[in-house]
Amino acid sequence: MSKNVRVRFAPSPTGPLHIGGVRTALFNYLFAKKHGGDFVLRIEDTDQNRYVEGAEEYIVKSLDWCGMSFDEGPGKNEKFGPYRQSERKHLYKQYADDLIANGKAYYAFDTSEQLDAERKGHEAEGKTFIYNWHNRAKGRLVNSLVLTEAETKAKIEAGDDYVIRFKSPQDETLHLTDIIRGNMKIDTNVLDDKILFKSDGMPTYHLANIVDDHLMEITHVIRGEEWLPSLALHQLLYDAFGWDAPEFAHLPLILKPTGKGKLSKRDGDKMGFPVFPLEYTAPDGTVSRGYKEDGYFPEAVVNFLAFLGWNPGTEQEIFSLEQLVADFDLARVNKAGARFDPDKTKWFNHHY
Ligand code: GLU
Repeated sequence: MSKNVRVRFAPSPTGPLHIGGVRTALFNYLFAKKHGGDFVLRIEDTDQNRYVEGAEEYIVKSLDWCGMSFDEGPGKNEKFGPYRQSERKHLYKQYADDLIANGKAYYAFDTSEQLDAERKGHEAEGKTFIYNWHNRAKGRLVNSLVLTEAETKAKIEAGDDYVIRFKSPQDETLHLTDIIRGNMKIDTNVLDDKILFKSDGMPTYHLANIVDDHLMEITHVIRGEEWLPSLALHQLLYDAFGWDAPEFAHLPLILKPTGKGKLSKRDGDKMGFPVFPLEYTAPDGTVSRGYKEDGYFPEAVVNFLAFLGWNPGTEQEIFSLEQLVADFDLARVNKAGARFDPDKTKWFNHHY
């Protein structure tokens, strides 16, 4: 690998870290250390409505308990920092404005009533509503593409609420590559013109995430499969800014013990196994126990998590963190969902 490998774990502090998040952190950590690179922690806290007090602290403590120390993060080697997005918010508007100036994004003034009417109108015709600029001819969408420049300016000056939307290309086939999933193609006409900047003056996840990955010189984005549907927009944003995109790897879902459906935080409590590294008290006072409180060794938990989607290609099952670093390879991560097996957690713990 020619460039210095830099990966990031970018949790949103909307609650504690559960096993899906710890597994994402672990795979990033292993990949960074394997290639002598940097493991960055970035706190994605631009969604004020979902912010949970204490979540960041919980996340940092959990990484620490698992033995995954980060090289850069809040309060630590802030080379490209600050590493909390709420402390970088002055940055993002500038980038959204640049996109507007280059014709790659636009102001949209639609109220929720107008959007609802548009959605219902489409439903009545048996169609799915996709908010993109090709639909603007239909009439009801209010954005700077249907207004004159003077009208747009007047609306902004009058204090009308607006968002900034990305202008998805029309009639193009986008080619995407993922280290785990291989090559994919997508017709850009199915894409919504996603909001990049919200009316509350905050960037959305998409804009802040791309800008930060670029500014922090991230070379590989390793994250959960739930972000795969955002890959097209992210690739288009890199293209729109004229930046090289990092490489992407979307990790397989973690499935319920039954193998059916995604493992949820609630499954742990309901089925009696921990899904958090440490004990967690929710804002409403409910307590979920963690591996630590359940008497698991961090080494056993890490070993168990490594096998959720990855395999060494040998019969070996017991790995120390150092051995995992040495053997880890994204090429050995499966596409198929990984079933969470509580008995296996016990088995690993027994071996430590
Ligand atoms: N903040 C996102 C999350 O909480 C990060 C997704 C990504 O890694 O791009 O999962």
